Amino acid sequence: MREDICTIPISEVFENGDGCPICRMRKMLEDRIVDYILGAAMMEPDVRIETNRLGFCSNHLQQMMSRRNRLQLGLILETHLKEIENEVFKKGVFGLNNKKSAYSAARTVESCFVCDKVDFGMKSLIKTLFITYNNQLDFRETFRKQEFLCLPHYKLLCESAKEHLSKKPLSDFNEDILNLSKGYLQSLYNDVHKFTKMFDYRNSSDENADFSSVKNSIERAYDYLCAKGEETL
Ligand SMILES: [Zn+2]
Ligand SMILES: [Zn+2]
Repeated sequence: MREDICTIPISEVFENGDGCPICRMRKMLEDRIVDYILGAAMMEPDVRIETNRLGFCSNHLQQMMSRRNRLQLGLILETHLKEIENEVFKKGVFGLNNKKSAYSAARTVESCFVCDKVDFGMKSLIKTLFITYNNQLDFRETFRKQEFLCLPHYKLLCESAKEHLSKKPLSDFNEDILNLSKGYLQSLYNDVHKFTKMFDYRNSSDENADFSSVKNSIERAYDYLCAKGEETL
């Protein structure tokens, strides 16, 4: 697979868009990998060997089904299904002792080509993020201006910061991610609290009460808690 598919400039991610920057980074990576599989990768036999073996999780298969390239997806699935037939249901692996068949089925069900590549790409992007934070003071300003950091990505950065930063930048970084995640949590809590109050008879009958800013607070809580529905981190 072409290495540059997983290379996204950090500044491009952090300078554009709202929400959690790491969610945006992951989304960009996923989109690029899915585009690649359904496009240029059709001409690369080594990618097909891997997609045949690993298959796709339901999330990513749905993402591919929502694209236009149905023929490409059909060709990919055709050889993947053939491989399942050969590996999971080959002669002699099922019957009274079907351990090998079950093992083979489990391996296919639990693996995903896109998830594998996203995980690989994220590791390298997170490393680049720390290098940029360490070396470029103006990037730290951009970093602090993000809307928020979702909880799963707060966890990810919390756990990995120590490996990549020395004492002083580490302490600055920890303070920044705390502000981005805890600060947002507090405003989110207030909005969800107000949202629940909307259902209160006395408040809902108050025509002057302004609830416009809190109506999507449940969706925003979901994004904060679930990293926009990520299955793997
Ligand atoms: Zn996130
Ligand atoms: Zn997947």
